[in-house]
Amino acid sequence: MAVSNKELRAKRGTIDNLLFILRHIWSWDKGVFSTIGFHSIFMAAAPFIWVFAPKYLIDELLGLKRFEFLVGILIAAFLASATANYFTAYLIGAYRMKMSNIRFHFIHMMNEKAMAMDFKHTEDPSVLNSIQQAWRTVHNPYNGIGGVLQKLFNIFGSLIGFLGYVTIIFILNPIILAYLVVNVLINYYLTLRAKEYERNRKDELSQHERKSIYLGRTMSDFQYGKDIRIYGLKQMLMEKKEHFDRKRLEIAEDVQAKLFKVSLVDSVLLLLREGIVYVYLVYRVIEGSLSIGNFTMYAAAISSFASWMNTFLLDIAFIKVNCQYANDFRDFLETEDDDTKKDTTDIPTDKPYQLELRGISFKYPNSENYIFKNLSLKIKAGEKLAIVGINGAGKTTLVKLLTRLYQPTSGEILLNGVNILEFDEKAYFKLFSVVFQEIKMFAFTVAENITFRERAYEMTRLISAIERAGIKDKIDSLDKGLNTSVLKVLDQYGTEFSGGENQKLALARALYKNGEIIILDEPTAALDPLAEYNMYNSFNEMIGNRTAIYISHRLSSTRFCDTVAFFEGGKIVEYGSHEELIRLKGKYAEMFNLQAQYYRDQQLAKEA
Ligand code: ADP
Ligand code: MG
Repeated sequence: MAVSNKELRAKRGTIDNLLFILRHIWSWDKGVFSTIGFHSIFMAAAPFIWVFAPKYLIDELLGLKRFEFLVGILIAAFLASATANYFTAYLIGAYRMKMSNIRFHFIHMMNEKAMAMDFKHTEDPSVLNSIQQAWRTVHNPYNGIGGVLQKLFNIFGSLIGFLGYVTIIFILNPIILAYLVVNVLINYYLTLRAKEYERNRKDELSQHERKSIYLGRTMSDFQYGKDIRIYGLKQMLMEKKEHFDRKRLEIAEDVQAKLFKVSLVDSVLLLLREGIVYVYLVYRVIEGSLSIGNFTMYAAAISSFASWMNTFLLDIAFIKVNCQYANDFRDFLETEDDDTKKDTTDIPTDKPYQLELRGISFKYPNSENYIFKNLSLKIKAGEKLAIVGINGAGKTTLVKLLTRLYQPTSGEILLNGVNILEFDEKAYFKLFSVVFQEIKMFAFTVAENITFRERAYEMTRLISAIERAGIKDKIDSLDKGLNTSVLKVLDQYGTEFSGGENQKLALARALYKNGEIIILDEPTAALDPLAEYNMYNSFNEMIGNRTAIYISHRLSSTRFCDTVAFFEGGKIVEYGSHEELIRLKGKYAEMFNLQAQYYRDQQLAKEA
């Protein structure tokens, strides 16, 4: 068994995370790097035009006042400036497109993982949080990986520009340079601390956020609309959401207060910085060791220096912090699956298949309750097994284990005598046609919902599946037939099917897939018992000699099954053919007689 995700959380270094990002960018779009390179050059060079030009202009104005020289400087400065602006604008546009594209690639990675990871993770709150954080890492163009990309675009330009200022000020006076550097470093350190604080509270924030988002979605998801109205849930939902939103705001306010303090300190530092240096420059001019032109140049350089150094350092800090987001993203991608996914024993070819549970115990992740303890059950090749029992007996859990969505805590499940973990997971999934208890329709067309193919589906097979599932007439009655959209989320003309119709569509899905092992987990709850009996009966004929498991808390499926397993509290309390169990006069017989009364009444009502 894999360790839980929390313990796996790796702390990777900034460089490690940065390389992770760069490596992926390199594999998707190498042009990104030359775009960054050219932009850096223009970005670094442009501001110096307006550091140097005024110096020459002023010195000339106070000296020889040559007209051609003055005009020449102005024209050169304007041309250089215009060129730099033109290319910068072009490169920014080009880079923006590239950034979106790269983010889409990362999002794609994440979605792929979400669909392929072990199913058990989908209920693990720590994994759910980690998805939420991975999502934040890739979804915002200004934060997380998007933020790193933004900064990468500027950082080399900042660095070169910063070094230019360092040189100029060093020439003026190394002590002034040192003074400025220390001043900016103090500010930088404080800002960094505030940002770290922000990040540290992010886990907490993301939990509240997830809850609030869930509630928000529930409020506007009309699947819940009926219950919300009838049970008067409005108030409760609002209060719950407000509670989590308040928590979010509290954290945001806390962080904001920290940032505000830093900016106050920064203002004081700025006054000290510029004040002292100006006094020094003025003194040098009066002393006669600095021309007015040079005074202007140094003043411009000094006031820009701090902001460039600050920008540069903050960019580094920003990259550092956002690389931590990349760390979350990688944590999610590396959410550990049980290491059996790609085991490669070939799926046996002798059909129908035989399944065996051998002494399995099982409890859900993050739960101490054993659903099964040392349960054994054999399903013979081609056998039709009915599993019956009241709600909560463990029937659906058994399906999840047989289909390998979960793994037993101990014991093993065998397919034709081979532990199912030895097969490649995908190949194993392929064997099954399952209709799950909660039927999920996608916002695709009817045909896509049944075949899960966009176009390349087999029409005859599809028609036969909907005919046999008893939903063909309904589909034919729709304007667009098989091309009707299901649900209204993406298509306002989409159709909502009734519960019973959805179940029939799900049956058609199972029939179309034509899996070698059939499992129906109470797919007929929305049908009345008689219709259910008829459905099972005809379904049973369709699947021929394939191995099948029919689950129901009603007993209409049991008559034509070879064997009945009666579950109670995770144990098989009665096992045998329908007739045997009736003769046993135990729990099954009691339940059957109770329900049989109902069937007889129905039958009579029909015949009358
Ligand atoms: P049945 O299908 O027979 O009605 P289930 O197999 O769905 O019963 O559930 C068996 C028991 O397992 C129930 O007590 C249920 O509360 C518990 N259970 C089901 N799913 C989970 C889960 N994801 N995590 C923890 N407990 C679960
Ligand atoms: Mg169930």
